[in-house]
Amino acid sequence: MQITAAVMEKPDGVLARRRIKLEKVELEDPREDEVLIRVTSCGVCGTDKGCIHGLEPFPIPGVLGHEGAGVVEAIGSRVSLVKTGDRVMIGVPFCGHCLTCRRGEPRYCQNYMALTSSGYRMDGSSPMSRDGETLAGRFFQQSSWVPNTLALERQLARAHDGLDLDLTGQYGCSISTGAGTNFNELKPYPRSSIAGFGAGNVGLGAVMAARMTGATTIIAVDEVAERLALAGELGATHTLQHGPGTVEEPKALIRDNVDFSMEATDGSNLVSEAIEALGVRGTCARMGGAKLTETVQYKFADVPLKGKRIVGAMGGGGQSPMFLEDLMRLQLEGRFPLEKPVKFHDFADVNQAIDDSDAHKIIKPILRMQ
Ligand SMILES: [Zn+2]
Ligand SMILES: [Zn+2]
Repeated sequence: MQITAAVMEKPDGVLARRRIKLEKVELEDPREDEVLIRVTSCGVCGTDKGCIHGLEPFPIPGVLGHEGAGVVEAIGSRVSLVKTGDRVMIGVPFCGHCLTCRRGEPRYCQNYMALTSSGYRMDGSSPMSRDGETLAGRFFQQSSWVPNTLALERQLARAHDGLDLDLTGQYGCSISTGAGTNFNELKPYPRSSIAGFGAGNVGLGAVMAARMTGATTIIAVDEVAERLALAGELGATHTLQHGPGTVEEPKALIRDNVDFSMEATDGSNLVSEAIEALGVRGTCARMGGAKLTETVQYKFADVPLKGKRIVGAMGGGGQSPMFLEDLMRLQLEGRFPLEKPVKFHDFADVNQAIDDSDAHKIIKPILRMQ
């Protein structure tokens, strides 16, 4: 079928970043394990922007978008988990047969990079082409900045009745990353303290989740005042403007007992600060994005002397997509007000949504495709 896709091209010398243009693209029919989805919306996430700014890898020309949600239009011959008409969101893909997938941790699939960033299926093919030219049309196996796309059956989660479908795509990346890091990795215990560096959608998802744990001190750190105000509304007990004092201030607030810290920035790399801010036996979870060659520094004796731990939290861990449906249940009960940071944009305004997000004018842009 022919669709209109947001195609990423090389910089044209006018914009500093890579260009996104809406163009006619040919989309294949679903293969036996694939599902054709009428995409109703898709978020603009940090990893999309990382690719647009050349910080994270993705082939050009290609189609981004990895927080898609929509309605199943057709299914492949071996698909049994969903049927035509189901409302679904598209989670992070996993291969299902590597060692970590078989151990029940698909967010750490050993084929993760091939499935997310190569732009192609595992067999090297792509379902999207433009005038006979193959496009990288498989970002996170979904490339959802389109009105129709294909995805793998196993990466889909059903949206519960009663939920606004266009809010659920965020569970595919930003929200599950922030929330899952709390629920699956850090698991804050009663009266513990947690400091989040970065209050974008990942950091705000973390704050919303932290409020549902035993943590009684939840500190949000960011440079943008509007984000901090929202963090306070969503459950942060303290908010700190990022600056020279943001390592010492959390310590001072709770007498050097920061139990957990989270680095959730979109390219600022505050990992060193998040580690330094911890108290004795504290754990820092890394879930933010930055250039893949970035490095982190910390004082040599600090980590062993205080028994600190540093953990990676890819996408928040958890057994996707089951975990995503569990999070949606919390939203259904009103415990996850993830609509608050969102601003919807028409698909045609994709470039404006990217630029407004880059300029920190909005926290979470979501594109409406239909
Ligand atoms: Zn795997
Ligand atoms: Zn993302």
